[in-house]
Amino acid sequence: RSDTLRYPRVLLKLSGEALAGDRGFGFDFDRLTFFAQQVEDVVATGAEVGLVIGGGNIVRGAQLSRMGMDRVGADYMGMLGTVINALALQDVLEKRGMDTRVMTAIRMEELAEPYIRRRAVRHLETRRVVIFAAGTGNPYFSTDTAAVLRAIQIKADVIIKATSVDGVYSADPKQDPNARFYETISYRDVMLEELRVMDQTAITLCKENRLPLIVLNINETGAVLRAVRGEKVGTLVS
Ligand code: UDP
Repeated sequence: RSDTLRYPRVLLKLSGEALAGDRGFGFDFDRLTFFAQQVEDVVATGAEVGLVIGGGNIVRGAQLSRMGMDRVGADYMGMLGTVINALALQDVLEKRGMDTRVMTAIRMEELAEPYIRRRAVRHLETRRVVIFAAGTGNPYFSTDTAAVLRAIQIKADVIIKATSVDGVYSADPKQDPNARFYETISYRDVMLEELRVMDQTAITLCKENRLPLIVLNINETGAVLRAVRGEKVGTLVS
C-alpha cells in the first residue's frame, strides 16, 4: 500500500445518473471518458481503487414499482442496470490502459467474476481497479448501501461519494439559495437532520464501522485525487 497517501485504499461510489450526463438516460461517452480520467489520476498515485456504480440512468426499482411492477422484480432489474454500467465503465478504463475486474453480487460468470471478498482484495493489491456490480444482490437495498458494505469488507480507508454538488448542504443547493455548506459534519448530525447524503441504512453502516465518508463534486476535475491525498475537498462526514 502507498504510504504517502492519506487514503491508500478507496471505494468510490458513482451514481448511474452521472454516466448519463445531460441526457438523463443511458450513456454519455464524454462523461464516461472524463470519469475514467479521474480514476486514472488516482490509480497513478499508487492508490487502490474500488468502484461501485449505481443504475439510476437505466432502471430505478422504486420508480417501476410505483408504476405497478412488483418491487422485487423491479429491484432485480435495477441491479442488472448496474451491471450494464459496470461493463461500460470497464471498457473506458481498460481503453486507458488500466487493469480492471468487474465483480458481481449476482452470479453471471460468463461476463464477470462473482464477488468473493478475498479475491477482490487480491485484485486491489495488484492494482487492478475492481468494479463492484449488482449492488448488494438484494432487493430493497441501494447501491449506496452496497458501496458502504464493500468499503467495509475490503477495509477501504475512505468511501468517496461522487455527486453533482460540492458536498453536504443544509438543504438542496440547487433549490435553496440559502443552503449552508458543511466542510465537516458528523454521521449523527447527518442522520438527525435527515440530510440527503446517502440513505439511512448506508449512513448507519458508515457510523457503526467508523468509515470516513467524503462527499464531493465529480464534475470538478481532480476532486477525487485531492480527496485521496487528504487535501480539503467536499464534505468530510466522520
Ligand atoms: N438495487 C437493489 N439492491 C441493491 C442495489 C440496487 O435492489 O443492493 C436496485 C434498486 O432498484 C435501485 C437500482 O438497483 O433503484 C439502481 O440503484 P440506485 O438507485 O442505488 O442507483 P443510483 O441512484 O446510484 O444511480
